Amino acid sequence: MQSETILEGVLLKRSQQKKKISPANYKERLFVFTQRSLAYYDFDKEKRGCRKGSIDIKKIRCVETVNPEECTPVERQYPFQIVYKEGLLYVYATNQENRRQWLETLLKEIKDNPFLLNKYHPGFFTNGKFLCCNQSCKTAPGCAIWEPYNTLRDPSNSKEHLPGNLKPKRPSLPPIPGEGKSSLGIAVAEHDYGPQDKSDISLMKNQKYHISSDKDPDWWKVGDADGKETGRSEDTSAEKERLQDYEWYVGDISRAQCEQLLRQKGKEGAFMVRNSSQVGKYTVSVFSVAVENKSGAVKHYHIHTNSENKIYLAQDHCFDSVPKLIIYHQHNSAGLLTRLRHPVSTKAKKVPSTAPLGNGPWELRRTDIVLTKELGSGQFGVVQLGKWKGEYDVAVKMIRESSMSEDEFLEEAQVMMNLSHPKLVQLYGMCTEKYPIYIVTEFMSNGSLLSYLKDHGKELQPFQLLEMCYNVCEAMEFLEHHQFIHRDLAARNCLVDNDLAVKVSDFGMGRFVLDDQYISSVGTKFSVKWSAPEVFHYSKFSSKSDVWAFGILIWEVFSLGKQPYELYDNTQVVEKVSQGYRLYRPQLSSEEIYEIMCSCWNELPEQRPTFHQLLSWMESFREDDSDDRP
Ligand code: ADP
Repeated sequence: MQSETILEGVLLKRSQQKKKISPANYKERLFVFTQRSLAYYDFDKEKRGCRKGSIDIKKIRCVETVNPEECTPVERQYPFQIVYKEGLLYVYATNQENRRQWLETLLKEIKDNPFLLNKYHPGFFTNGKFLCCNQSCKTAPGCAIWEPYNTLRDPSNSKEHLPGNLKPKRPSLPPIPGEGKSSLGIAVAEHDYGPQDKSDISLMKNQKYHISSDKDPDWWKVGDADGKETGRSEDTSAEKERLQDYEWYVGDISRAQCEQLLRQKGKEGAFMVRNSSQVGKYTVSVFSVAVENKSGAVKHYHIHTNSENKIYLAQDHCFDSVPKLIIYHQHNSAGLLTRLRHPVSTKAKKVPSTAPLGNGPWELRRTDIVLTKELGSGQFGVVQLGKWKGEYDVAVKMIRESSMSEDEFLEEAQVMMNLSHPKLVQLYGMCTEKYPIYIVTEFMSNGSLLSYLKDHGKELQPFQLLEMCYNVCEAMEFLEHHQFIHRDLAARNCLVDNDLAVKVSDFGMGRFVLDDQYISSVGTKFSVKWSAPEVFHYSKFSSKSDVWAFGILIWEVFSLGKQPYELYDNTQVVEKVSQGYRLYRPQLSSEEIYEIMCSCWNELPEQRPTFHQLLSWMESFREDDSDDRP
């Protein structure tokens, strides 16, 4: 159901510089503001075209003017900013009145949002820093008071001043127990502290607060020192928060298991806090993709204590509790590899372990796995969803007798198991002592890429399609780097996670299939349509034949799951491709993306790009596209 338009108009939009160094560009977009979202579209003579991006109203945290940059052309004299949960958008109104109208309308709709900011940046974020305060982190706390915040949040501003139901939602704290307001003393906030959830209040650096309760070692309950009691809303349970209540706290897990989980998450800034080997101490472990040849690295930081009993990761930033320290580093890397972006939890469902159990090093106990439902079926047999140790979701490939050359597979399995990359579906272990053999892998809730494209492709924007191809390319670059050939790369052999990340599956598995139809090039199952000429002529597999298949996969993605060369059978495809015939450009693909596909289909393997090259080409398109990715 579409919600009603509140305001609509053409505005100039600045690209959201995804990389610090990518230049800004400006595009006219038709902005449509409804109660649910602020979306922007391509347009043609005011007619709405393709949607290029959208921001959920609930996620907006601040809307405000921005100081124009020096020597700004006339069309960019009236900029304003929209700060939202995942980013920062700069838009230029046509004139002062137009800007006032947009800001006022936006403000009215976001007034009850839970995480409004009390500070903002009056200057642009340009070339890697804010012009107002020189901070280089795009999510750095603001450097100037955002006036509307105080108006919206100040309880003394009653209904008379604020139209409609604009009065503050949060009730004030109950009176501080004991006599007077400062029964436990006064605390001065060391840092700005933005509320992390509904039960939090904002603290401002250097401002004084009454401590009304210090029962919890990690949290104090506070009120404003100058009389007004501000507080943690009606949800006093927040007072009881302890480390155990935080998603990122995992307690006692081994370093190896921690690394596995962070790599599995695969996101820049994935992190967790675990107990150190030293009793009562903690370690923060964080994953960054940007190091070690893009396969990523996990770093472990011990939380230290200084002579004043304050804790820190970076000496200049000390805190009196672990949650406060984490909150700070969620916003500032301050010497860490990256800031802490994505908490990884052992409370989550997807946390299997490859701890050696049973017979071999990869043997899992069959009785630890309960099969719950069928996910699909493939070359080897049925694939089931399972629960491992009653807790963790896993996918279980059940290998029928005589469907696989088992000995060869078991030999190779160790190599495959050690190939661990965020964009490869992780192989966890096996149950091999009887048939059906179980191959246990990471569970991907959105199933195969091919069926996802067919069922949901129309809901995806071109940049999301590109992102899916990019994910596959990342995995393939990793395999290429490890000189591992996939041999059967295709959309049907990739899987989609719950956050739409795509991972490559079934790497190397084609070799173990015992099925004539599958193996021989005359058989219908042999993936001729994904094969390079040297493969269907001489079975000559290489990373370059994987590159050919990757070109076909990009085509599948941008055709939303169409069958390649759908009018031809395998024999005709061999003939046509040998004669130089290639797939056409799918409608949704730009010329540039099509050029990439065609480069993968060079007749000569040595003239095809490597995955490493492909990744950097695609990376540059992602930047160009950043314009439209809030
Ligand atoms: P095969 O490689 O033997 O042909 P597949 O691996 O393609 O079999 O699995 C068949 C189907 O099972 C897939 O299309 C997909 O729907 C489902 N499936 C396989 N592995 C997983 C997984 N890890 N998570 C979720 N679904 C899966």
